[in-house]
Amino acid sequence: MYRTHTCGELRINNAGENVTLAGWVQRIRKMGGMSFIDLRDRYGITQLVIDDGASHELNEVAEKLGREYVIQAKGLVAERSSKNSKISTGDIEIKIEAIKVLNSSQTPPFTIEDDTDGGEELRAKYRYIDLRRNPLKKALEIRHKLGQEVRKYLDNIGFMEIETPVLIKSTPEGARDFVVPSRMNLGEFYALPQSPQTFKQLLMVAGYDRYFQIVRCFRDEDLRADRQPEFTQIDCEMSFVEREDVLNTFEGLIKALFVNVLGHEIKEQFPRMSYAHAMKYYGSDKPDIRFGMKICELKSTPSNGINFSGHSEDQVVDLVGGQNFVVFDSAEYVAGICVEGAASYTRKQIDQLTEWVKRPQIGAKGLVYIRVEEQKIKSSVDKFYPAGHLEKIATEMEAKPGDLILILAGDKRKTQEALGTLRIEMGNRLGLRKNDNFAPLWVYDFPLLEWDSETQRFYAMHHPFTAPKPEDMEKFYSNNRDHIAQVAANAYDFVLNGTEIGGGSIRIHDATIQKRMFEVLGFSDQEAESKFGFIINAFKFGAPPHGGIAFGFDRFCALFGGQETIRDYIAFPKNNAGRDVMLDAPSPIDDSQMEELFLKSTLKK
Ligand code: ASP
Repeated sequence: MYRTHTCGELRINNAGENVTLAGWVQRIRKMGGMSFIDLRDRYGITQLVIDDGASHELNEVAEKLGREYVIQAKGLVAERSSKNSKISTGDIEIKIEAIKVLNSSQTPPFTIEDDTDGGEELRAKYRYIDLRRNPLKKALEIRHKLGQEVRKYLDNIGFMEIETPVLIKSTPEGARDFVVPSRMNLGEFYALPQSPQTFKQLLMVAGYDRYFQIVRCFRDEDLRADRQPEFTQIDCEMSFVEREDVLNTFEGLIKALFVNVLGHEIKEQFPRMSYAHAMKYYGSDKPDIRFGMKICELKSTPSNGINFSGHSEDQVVDLVGGQNFVVFDSAEYVAGICVEGAASYTRKQIDQLTEWVKRPQIGAKGLVYIRVEEQKIKSSVDKFYPAGHLEKIATEMEAKPGDLILILAGDKRKTQEALGTLRIEMGNRLGLRKNDNFAPLWVYDFPLLEWDSETQRFYAMHHPFTAPKPEDMEKFYSNNRDHIAQVAANAYDFVLNGTEIGGGSIRIHDATIQKRMFEVLGFSDQEAESKFGFIINAFKFGAPPHGGIAFGFDRFCALFGGQETIRDYIAFPKNNAGRDVMLDAPSPIDDSQMEELFLKSTLKK
């Protein structure tokens, strides 16, 4: 037996027992004639002591130990004279009688402490050493626990876990596919799935009714911050359901995860909000509703043309026109946010904020401010607007003395998004986005399609299997582009603290509607047939009404762990350039492998 106990197990009531532990040497300290060794394993750290009077042999072995040596230590559990309340075994130590070195170790390239001295690149290269550190261990524990709870919950309500293939067919929609050449079918390629979307729908056609899978997905996208080329989804699908059935089912799952993983009970129903409402008041389709600071429109007209209006939320307002201020007069849309207690922002701080909103990522042309003070109002545009007019705007925005109003103007959609970004930035600066607070939210009624002016065609905003809302069916079959653009999707997202964690939809289950969808997306009949014939065909064999959702499992884990980045929650992640620096992958393959596949690189060396 290598060990009788783990390094996290022994307590004061074990005092007097003879035990054997095995683990890694975290640290060795010498004090006079005594040596102290911190022995670590997955479960914790136990202090080993070699007394002054220890045998020559024992001292000799101890002398040779270094950090990260793997040892087996036998000894007697004793109460410590100076206890360490920071660790669970801190009341005891082991008086060592014998040590056996199971393996030596080179000096690790960085310290294995919570705050390590190793840089990111170095730690990635030695990921297996980095994984010994507590923060990473905790991250993987959360991931494990979440996965187990998902399985338990869904199994309990009749969901079946079914695996779907990893080698599939490349399809033109969505992100770029990773492709795999087939040796047995020379000149042909598989694609790795971006999600099991069509398979889960086919499982519904097959009658499986409730499916889930914790599944790897692959997308060959340019890596934006915190994306991984391979990532994991909790993928789910149900038959004979409407939107509310899906939302309620998965609200149940999320609440259970909160309770069972974090001990955090959410009693209330999650708030729900239409996409149009979210854009109008939060400038984002994934609003962080932990704080207010809602967008207030000062000039707006109903969306027209190719811009989705989302039916109900459009209003005509103009509180800023007619004062000869060209910026506002010529803008399609003017709106602002009221930042509580920020009137103390200096001119210089506002100038910096102006530069900030002008960055290409945000793209605003400028920033107008109104500073609301006890007796007076100060603004960057007060030469155009008399005090009374500014006061009216301040009242409309429910500003109080001490508040700072920030206003942007321009194209409607872009300005909404810019204000959304500014709102998040001000929320961060004011400390309103604390992590220990959770604000779940469902957003629904997204646009079905997005028009791309460059390629002059529609793209599916979610994916081409999402059903249009029944009430928009007439527009869906219209020949008028502007009408088609107004079609809402029966799609929904789950948002937590301003991050989209999940998304799904009620699906098309009718072959003719699915065909129309491909037509709207600009596919010829032949193209639709060759790329998606299998699903159009399946719908001819009794497809039930169905819908589903997929959650980003990595992101869920990070949020539950209170961290921004998903990388720590993946045992072996890729870096920002999509590389595994430990394996040094991707890498060239041998000429013989290339030849076997009849592949030739045209890349100039
Ligand atoms: N497959 C979709 C996605 O990956 C989710 C869904 O519609 O269920 O975004």
